Amino acid sequence: MNAIWKLLTFPAMLINAHTHHYTEGHISVLNFYPHQDTPKVNPKQTLLSCGIHPWYLKSLDNNDALARLTELCSQKMIHAIGECGLDKNTDDLSLQKSTFIRQIELSEKYKLPLIVHSVRCHHLVQEIRKQTHSRCPWIFHGFTGSFEMADQLIKQNIFISLGSYLLRQPAKAKLLLNKIDLNYVLFETDDSDIDIEEIYNKASLLTGKAQTELEKITELNFKKIFF
Ligand SMILES: [Zn+2]
Repeated sequence: MNAIWKLLTFPAMLINAHTHHYTEGHISVLNFYPHQDTPKVNPKQTLLSCGIHPWYLKSLDNNDALARLTELCSQKMIHAIGECGLDKNTDDLSLQKSTFIRQIELSEKYKLPLIVHSVRCHHLVQEIRKQTHSRCPWIFHGFTGSFEMADQLIKQNIFISLGSYLLRQPAKAKLLLNKIDLNYVLFETDDSDIDIEEIYNKASLLTGKAQTELEKITELNFKKIFF
């Protein structure tokens, strides 16, 4: 997609689709916020995502944040928009919605994938994807919903990223992992201190598939999104 992408080296590297902590030794998408400096990272291993999180909407100057985000997109400093989205546990859903849509527009304009945060708003996110006629791939991060919900999202070309849920709710996660189309699955650590290796390990146990097989599948998925 852009020059930095070509630097990434895949052999024997696990992919962490969404994290807030910079670590080396994995391919990861490191998240930061528009009011923060652009993190200095090893471009051979790390892609950057930046977005306005619904939790911080009230404490930020929205226009400033959107202006910085636009600049980061136009200068090709980031590889994905987000995390951004909707959260029913945070107030002012209408401001959340309009800010989310502005970020979707940037994603479409600059052809960047979008990392979605959704808390009790999955149906609304689906509706907005339809209404905005979005074509860019979205990654629904930290997914903890049902197979049925995952399947509906996948039908809209939305990828599902799973993280600590696999460790916290292994029985439910097992049901999901064994029914879901793995060609739409990614793994992540989000803001936890868990090693991504642990997530892959658990996924391997829960699916009965070799970890190397899961690594190959997620690498293909990742390339589909970011190429
Ligand atoms: Zn996050």
